[in-house]
Amino acid sequence: MEYAEVSVNSPAARRLTFSYAVPPGLGIEVGQAVWVPFGDKRLQGIVLALSNVPPDIETREIAGLIEDRPLLSPHQVSLARWISDYYLSPLFEAVALMLPPGFRRRMVTYLSASLSPEDDLSSLPREQKEALELISARGRLSLSELEKALGRKKAQRAVSQLVKRGLALRSYELAPARVKPRLELHLSLAVAPGEAQREIDGLLSRRAGKQAALLGFLKQRPQPVPWAEARQEVGCTKAVADALVAKGLVRVQQVEVRRDPLSRQAVTPSPPLTLTAAQQSALDGVTSALRSRGKPGVFLLHGVTGSGKTEVYLQALKEAVRLGKKGIVLVPEISLTPQTIERFSARFPHRVAVLHSRLSLGEQFDEWQRIRNGGCEVVIGPRSAVFAPQPDLGFIIIDEEHEWSYKQSDVSPRYHARDVALKLSELTGAVVVLGSATPDVESYYRARKGDYRLLELPERVVPDQGSPLPQVEVVDMREELKAGNRSIFSRALFRAVTEALTKNEQVMLFLNRRGGATFIQCRNCGYVLRCRRCEVVLTYHPDEGVLACHQCNYRIPVPQTCPRCSSRRIKFLGTGTQKLAQLAQESFPGARLLRWDSDATRGKDAHREILNRFRSHQADILVGTQMIAKGLDLPLVTLVGGVNADVSLNLPDFRAGERTFQLLSQVLGRAGRGSLGGRVVIQTYFPEHYAIRAASRHDYSLFYEQEIDYRRKLRNPPFSRLACLTYAHTNDVLCQREAIRMKQRLSEEIASRGIDSVSLIGPAPAFVHRLRGRFRWQLILRGSELASFLASVAIPPGWKIDIDPVGLV
Ligand code: ADP
Ligand code: ZN
Ligand code: ZN
Repeated sequence: MEYAEVSVNSPAARRLTFSYAVPPGLGIEVGQAVWVPFGDKRLQGIVLALSNVPPDIETREIAGLIEDRPLLSPHQVSLARWISDYYLSPLFEAVALMLPPGFRRRMVTYLSASLSPEDDLSSLPREQKEALELISARGRLSLSELEKALGRKKAQRAVSQLVKRGLALRSYELAPARVKPRLELHLSLAVAPGEAQREIDGLLSRRAGKQAALLGFLKQRPQPVPWAEARQEVGCTKAVADALVAKGLVRVQQVEVRRDPLSRQAVTPSPPLTLTAAQQSALDGVTSALRSRGKPGVFLLHGVTGSGKTEVYLQALKEAVRLGKKGIVLVPEISLTPQTIERFSARFPHRVAVLHSRLSLGEQFDEWQRIRNGGCEVVIGPRSAVFAPQPDLGFIIIDEEHEWSYKQSDVSPRYHARDVALKLSELTGAVVVLGSATPDVESYYRARKGDYRLLELPERVVPDQGSPLPQVEVVDMREELKAGNRSIFSRALFRAVTEALTKNEQVMLFLNRRGGATFIQCRNCGYVLRCRRCEVVLTYHPDEGVLACHQCNYRIPVPQTCPRCSSRRIKFLGTGTQKLAQLAQESFPGARLLRWDSDATRGKDAHREILNRFRSHQADILVGTQMIAKGLDLPLVTLVGGVNADVSLNLPDFRAGERTFQLLSQVLGRAGRGSLGGRVVIQTYFPEHYAIRAASRHDYSLFYEQEIDYRRKLRNPPFSRLACLTYAHTNDVLCQREAIRMKQRLSEEIASRGIDSVSLIGPAPAFVHRLRGRFRWQLILRGSELASFLASVAIPPGWKIDIDPVGLV
């Protein structure tokens, strides 16, 4: 007898697997999806292991297969277990990351009657009789249909009674696929080519040129042609096609097509470029790792924007493909990187799959299948693409590896795609390249230590002439106020914008966040209050009129005057993008403005539309959040203004300095990509801050040395690990009480086990204290081996655990 260890799709299963006997004759493999009995239900499960040793508990039998082929590969099974253990997430949630799109929703309960002639139905209660009649009338009925007919409660009650009496049977099935194949109109000749030619001559003599042209086009094509293509090639309307159909010369049919997210873009194949010396040596490093059979290589490719990292990815990937391997490329936000995707699909025409949560479920499903069947050399997508079923995975690229969007923070499993990729590399031997202009301090630290191999591209590739790094001016906003300028635009920025507009060039104005700021700053001297204990910026809580540290809950009332310079202009809260757009319109009345933030860009193609409008110079000034700093190549932009660099600097998070450096560097990277050159103006109350100084000088090491020093002193990552525990409740007092109780429990555990490597910070209200009507308190653990410690403590339900949180805000 064979036994299967199964991860079951039920919240009750938590991090556990369950053992089932494999019925004789049922061929089962690891990674396969099965139906299993669970309590009185029949649920989905994934087989994680098989064994011949009977478990020491009684087992039930697997009820059946859901699909013939395994859905998870053996290394994905190991990966799912690791995710569940490391991030303390329910096992099936980890498994589900790797299942095909739409898989989890596809179970339906069906009812059928099981009556024998001797059953006496007259004594049944009315409710049950009614239900039974509906079921037997249809032979088989889904529970949801019955619920629609009788009402939910009534139907469920009746069914459970009928099942108990043996009068009805439940069965479970996959719902009919919600994902439907896509059909497209195709045209083909309905007559022999010779006859078509005679018709063409006739049409021409009757001056029906378009009809003749369409017929002529179809005559050259043996296969049905998509109508869209024919229309474009011939340049005719639907009426022309209809006329030919009416004459019986052309046939119309629906043909099933694969939904291809790239199909709207024309693909022009592009040859590899001749590499610079720096690119070549980076490429050599990576390709030698791809060829070696030893320990898998992890590389950190550090190079400023425009230094040619993408070209290195493309050529390294080509080599991987030549060696029979396939790749996964992660990008931070797919809708912001159309140009990157275009470059990959130009180099690997029709062999690129794009995974993207904004695709329809059908498109996602088709791409998943195509990948699993080995049809794609490259898969590109956001963090979840690391779970793509790419066979022969040999190469993983994480572009902009420092981006926070690689961490899933909002829902469980709260995984980091970079750490998942590293684990995957360990399991499969795949080579990993982390690329960034501003590497995560933790990655750079590991590279310095020798855990990763560091590859540097120190300079921009300068293809023809022009475009070195842009010239940067840092404006001290305190001086503006002293000079009597109360506008949001410094005199320097105002002048620069005016000048650019006069020359008919484009401007981007950039603000870090969309809402108002949450810190209080002195407008006179720039002073911002910080926590005495944690060094993080205090957060303003307008409802209580206090400033609070959201790590340790240190609180003070909002001061009336600045503690440093005694100015009364202390309550300066900053501006959002919407306000900024309005102010810009007032200051530059002749300019055409465009706003780009997550409010303005709801909808599938909104990003692309805004970008295209700006690129085709239908606007002069683009105002936006940091989103506009990503992945764009806009040659007409000669000026970039960082309107308030202090917004990110004053986030209550120990990574605020790093974040600011990254954002400013990205902004700098946007300017001067064209032959017109570029300038950057950064406005701040804190020009001497190392993050601002380093960014304005394009000096990563200056930033890194200072930052790593602070991290070491305050024992923050990479010198420790963090875990953030959050509790939410509609009642703030109860919420705080639970947080305090949890801290006590954890302290007792730590003390009683004599653990000295874990410390507790807080509890304190979360940065966003109230979210969707619930108050949130959080507790931070610092130390090593946090996951194993937390796994050994019973954490009550309602607590959210985030291991290695990226933003404590
Ligand atoms: P990054 O990814 O580091 O921002 P890219 O790979 O996008 O840099 O390169 C920046 C620009 O330089 C692109 O337009 C690219 O086509 C061009 N480029 C890159 N490498 C070369 C090269 N070896 N020769 C000529 N042009 C190059
Ligand atoms: Zn002051
Ligand atoms: Zn504090």
